[in-house]
Amino acid sequence: MDDTAWHHVVALAGGVGGAKLAEGLQQRLGPRLTVVGNVADDEEIWGLHISPDLDSVMYWLAGVNDEARGWGLADETWHTFETLERIGSAPWFRLGDRDLATHLTRTTLLHEGKPLTEVTARLARGWGVQARLLPVTDDRLRTIVHTEIGPLAFQDYFVRHRWEPAIQAIRFEGEGSAQVTAVVQDALRSAEAIILCPSNPFVSIEPLLRAAPLRELLRASTVPIVAVSPIVGGEAIKGPAAKMFRELGEEPSALAVARRYTDFLDGFLLDERDAHEAAAIEALGLHVAMTDTLMEGAAGRRRVADAVLTLAAALRL
Ligand code: GDP
Repeated sequence: MDDTAWHHVVALAGGVGGAKLAEGLQQRLGPRLTVVGNVADDEEIWGLHISPDLDSVMYWLAGVNDEARGWGLADETWHTFETLERIGSAPWFRLGDRDLATHLTRTTLLHEGKPLTEVTARLARGWGVQARLLPVTDDRLRTIVHTEIGPLAFQDYFVRHRWEPAIQAIRFEGEGSAQVTAVVQDALRSAEAIILCPSNPFVSIEPLLRAAPLRELLRASTVPIVAVSPIVGGEAIKGPAAKMFRELGEEPSALAVARRYTDFLDGFLLDERDAHEAAAIEALGLHVAMTDTLMEGAAGRRRVADAVLTLAAALRL
């Protein structure tokens, strides 16, 4: 793959699944990559503004993430949290000592009135990220998971309730008023390819699409838009994506993922374990390529990034 052929590629990413592909793309593209990240699972804990998805992407892109734990920073310590536990005031959301530096910085700058886009750029620079990381919106947009035990803010559902309650519907607070930032709109306009990372379709990609007018911008785009399936062998690699499909009344499959994006998608990178779904996805009008999409290690992430860039290159006008 001649990666020098790309001047600018945009990736839409959620948390860890998105972060892994973004890291693989960054290995190839460096600062020629823009990652547009999800803010709908942001939460306020101890008065601090936490952006779990943006931070996952930022830490993976900076190479400072804890790969085994799956979230947060490597070489983390927990003295603050343990002390809060000791004095009986620990929150249900764990925050590491080093991680606090990110949240303190973000919260302080937001309180000074800086938009999240600027704050994220400052943090990404501080952590040494090569690619450009942009929140999809500076406005308030929040995922509300309606479950059998009532409506829950996303982190409440995901962390406190360990995504156990059955889902009935997912709604987005701020939909209709949250606007895609001007800088994201410019990035999409100058992109030569747009990649949907293998992120949760319901709570990572969907909230991005609900920031207006992202979906319309994608529909109007003339450059290749390609997605990597987050569902492999009918299951999620990690997290609630497959469970959400079932609870919302659909069998989890790569085809079910592809169907959600047919109004703007051109190409689909399918896992080779799901080769039997290729014909049905092609019948939706999509170009399908296949590979082992499991992104294990830096080489695995680069391999999947290469596969998706090759598919996008083949669809370039
Ligand atoms: P979260 O917010 O941290 O849960 O992360 P995302 O929404 O970005 O990603 C969750 C999705 O990533 C899940 O549906 C996983 O199946 C998918 N995923 C994670 N790692 C991989 C991988 O190595 N390959 C593929 N194809 N999907 C992955």
